[in-house]
Amino acid sequence: MITAVKGMNDIRPGATEAFLDTRVWDTIFATAAEVFESYGYAHVLLPVVEETALFARAVGEETDIVSKEMYTFEDRGGRSLCLRPEGTAGAVRAYLEHNLSRTNALQRWWYGGPMYRAERPQKGRYRQFYQIGAELLGAPGVPAEVEMLLMLNTLMQRLGLQDFSINVNSLGDAPSREAYRKTLQEYCLQHEAALCESCKRRIHTNPLRVLDCKRESCGAVVENAPDILNSLSTEAMAHFEQMQTMLAARGLKVQRDRRLVRGLDYYTGLIFEFTTTALGAQSAILGGGRYDNLVSEFGGPPTPAVGFAAGVERLALLLAERLNLQQGPQIYLAPVAGAHTAAFVLADALRSVGVQVEVDVSEKALKHQIKRADKLGAEHVLVLGDTEITSQQGKLKHLKTGNEVAVALDATALKNTLLK
Ligand code: AMP
Repeated sequence: MITAVKGMNDIRPGATEAFLDTRVWDTIFATAAEVFESYGYAHVLLPVVEETALFARAVGEETDIVSKEMYTFEDRGGRSLCLRPEGTAGAVRAYLEHNLSRTNALQRWWYGGPMYRAERPQKGRYRQFYQIGAELLGAPGVPAEVEMLLMLNTLMQRLGLQDFSINVNSLGDAPSREAYRKTLQEYCLQHEAALCESCKRRIHTNPLRVLDCKRESCGAVVENAPDILNSLSTEAMAHFEQMQTMLAARGLKVQRDRRLVRGLDYYTGLIFEFTTTALGAQSAILGGGRYDNLVSEFGGPPTPAVGFAAGVERLALLLAERLNLQQGPQIYLAPVAGAHTAAFVLADALRSVGVQVEVDVSEKALKHQIKRADKLGAEHVLVLGDTEITSQQGKLKHLKTGNEVAVALDATALKNTLLK
């Protein structure tokens, strides 16, 4: 038997693991679309395949994502392409390719779709996973950052998720970050013996990543490492403080996490993560930050930007417990033999007034049809036979209580009965 590729999931109705149930996913996507659009973000659908060089340059050659997790292949023309591991690089490419920096520099975009990273699969970590994210291009200041965090907080509230904390840090501007990189490198070299093999390598390639190493021994070293805030320029520090003040004024509490660095090289200034204790080791629900240099690194004019991406599987894991998935159609129409045409007419009339209807097409005996309605979690069953069609009268049965109500076979009358 051919099975799905390791680390890639089938998201389907009635999935054994509730977080893979399409109904959970549809709730997440619909809520995200509603919240993002209400903040003025427009939906973009960008390619899943991009040139490998895009991520090598944007995300960084030395990051785990690019150095060991990308699904890279040569196409028939010998070009090196890959399955996108994240959404920001493609968004910046599209922004430049369509000349938006010249015509309409300030853009608010949101997206949702699959991303690919060849990581070791475990709970909350997959090889094909979905992200919903947004990019705000063309806004330099604190308000853009504050607005994005407020929007994310709204999204979490709307999904009914409350058990999370918002962690923030600042990487400062380029000179302050470079100064900190050197300071941290020196510190790590002094404590090299206590670091894990990966961190020993990181000292030379990407010392900031030593800060978020999950090993206890490295954690102990990092505990006393110099704080990046001490390397920030006065301006960068004021920016970071002003952001926290503005958020506090809107009632949003954030925590400074001095070990927060994020695994992508394009960040400058603010970085943030929403984390939870409910997901075990994979505690990050979403992450993002400012990336003021990415557009210019790709040849565009200096364009400040801020963005985030949330993991849909992780949101689904949190949400699955809260949703009632036993939700079938409002009316299950059970036609006896020969009554399908009449059933389709009535079903369409009901749908046109906003009632969800499923017509039985199994052509099995009525008792089987009603069993199926029950299993689906339908609210009501309406049997349609010759008597009902001739009299235009039927009995609407509420499946949970067993109550039956006599009704006219008219869409509006039926809808009104449902509302009672
Ligand atoms: P990143 O693009 O690495 O900043 O990740 C943003 C968010 O995507 C994380 O906070 C996770 O929720 C989610 N995420 C990242 N990698 C994976 C993965 N391999 N499997 C599932 N979710 C992921």
